Amino acid sequence: MLNEATLVAFKASLRGGLLEPTDPGYEAARKVYNRMIDRRPRLIARCADVADVITAVNFGREQKLLVAIRGGGHNAAGLGVCDDGLVIDLSPMSFVHVDPKKKTVLVGGGALWRDMDHATHAFGLAVPSGIISTTGVAGLTLGGGLGYLARRYGLTIDNLLAVHVVLADGRFVTASAKEHADLFWAVRGGGGNFGVVTSFLFKAQPVHTVYGGPMLWPLADTTEMMRWYRGFIAKAPDDVYGFFAFLTVPSGPPFPEHLHNAKMCGIVWCYTGPLKKAGMVFKPIRRFKAPALDLVGPIPHPVLQSLHDGLYPPGMQWYWKADFVRTLPDEAIAHHLKYAATMPSAQSTMHLYPINGAAGRVKKGATAWWHRDALWAEVIVGVDPDPANKDKISTWAKEYWSALHPYSTGGAYINFMMEEGEDRIRATYGKNYARLAKIKKRYDPANLFRVNQNIKLK
Ligand SMILES: Cc1cc2nc3c(=O)[nH]c(=O)nc-3n(C[C@H](O)[C@H](O)[C@H](O)COP(=O)(O)OP(=O)(O)OC[C@H]3O[C@@H](n4cnc5c(N)ncnc54)[C@H](O)[C@@H]3O)c2cc1C
Repeated sequence: MLNEATLVAFKASLRGGLLEPTDPGYEAARKVYNRMIDRRPRLIARCADVADVITAVNFGREQKLLVAIRGGGHNAAGLGVCDDGLVIDLSPMSFVHVDPKKKTVLVGGGALWRDMDHATHAFGLAVPSGIISTTGVAGLTLGGGLGYLARRYGLTIDNLLAVHVVLADGRFVTASAKEHADLFWAVRGGGGNFGVVTSFLFKAQPVHTVYGGPMLWPLADTTEMMRWYRGFIAKAPDDVYGFFAFLTVPSGPPFPEHLHNAKMCGIVWCYTGPLKKAGMVFKPIRRFKAPALDLVGPIPHPVLQSLHDGLYPPGMQWYWKADFVRTLPDEAIAHHLKYAATMPSAQSTMHLYPINGAAGRVKKGATAWWHRDALWAEVIVGVDPDPANKDKISTWAKEYWSALHPYSTGGAYINFMMEEGEDRIRATYGKNYARLAKIKKRYDPANLFRVNQNIKLK
């Protein structure tokens, strides 16, 4: 039970405000992107600045509350919210400051990628992120960050210069290659285990208009296209990125009517080389097999980043299964085809995100992100707007994943996992796990920050 006077004092000391279950705004604030997650925290602290975060961390620790940290609220497993405890909600801290001279960006712990892309694009810059603009910068970065620019400029963490963090004991520190280097190593892939990151300093890359978008082929061409893709992407130059996908064509523009609701395979491209060379680079791709739909062309980077946002609004049911994959043998392709043909809803999908090129050349021990030698991060997601279809989509995802798992490396991208237990987390961090556990012990010995893919102290 919380003492009323302590609670009143806590509320009064927050510039951003405190929400309790009876407050207007509480219902909206407790919701996360994945509506399969339905948790009711005791308190939601809307943090407006670092001072609010320090106050909230101290309050959570002193009152022995379960503490969840929320950035963009997009986490697969809903780890930005908890039952009964305190949510430290950073969404008011969404500032983005671009330094065009130094080509760096300082961004608040509650910003979304769309905030970032909007601000950097004006200067012809971008920070490598994912493929959806509504995702939080914080959670995506702390888990690694896989997306369109990974083959050219590395994972999001490979572009991180420093973080500003409120630790479990309430101290505020900077972690970079020079200060608290152990902490800086750990936050590059180790998730929210080590403290509340109030801001991130990134190096920005010269990206403005890219050549990208989807090319789609009939599902019947899957075997041929996957065989071609596995060879192509393994050797492609760094400026050519393409993730492989199964999808159901939406029934509206810009998709032609004869393809509406068709299950198809496809590759979503992002070429960051000189635009005048793009036609030539894509000529052999188009010549191998003419796509049934080709929407690839010059496109501003933020537009490519937000291309899928409308298809995936917040509030749907999501069930995620993932693995890292090094090879794509013919037997695996046969399983892919079987499960693609039985996608249980219009939004359900499978993506293979390449992580070779610049992302793959970083040493396995250089950051906490271990599986640098995998060729793809595979993700299978059952998605549906209707809660009544929850079991249908999760059964499909689990069965699909089980069929493919024997062809994987063991671990999975931490940001694509539901709560799957300690063994999966250990497999994901490989030999980096022991070092992460040591750093966790140094910075969060009581495991205050445990609503995450938790690193155990031993
Ligand atoms: C539709 C969709 C598309 C996606 N696409 C991609 C993609 O292309 N590439 C990719 O890499 N990932 C992708 N993801 C996965 C995404 O990276 C994770 O869901 C990530 O956790 C989201 O971050 P968030 O801040 O929105 O999440 P939250 O739910 O707010 O938080 C996630 C986790 O991070 C911790 N955390 C959040 N903010 C902070 C902070 N400031 N300090 C310390 N810890 C914090 C939380 O404790 C929690 O454990 C996608 C997710 C969705 C739903």
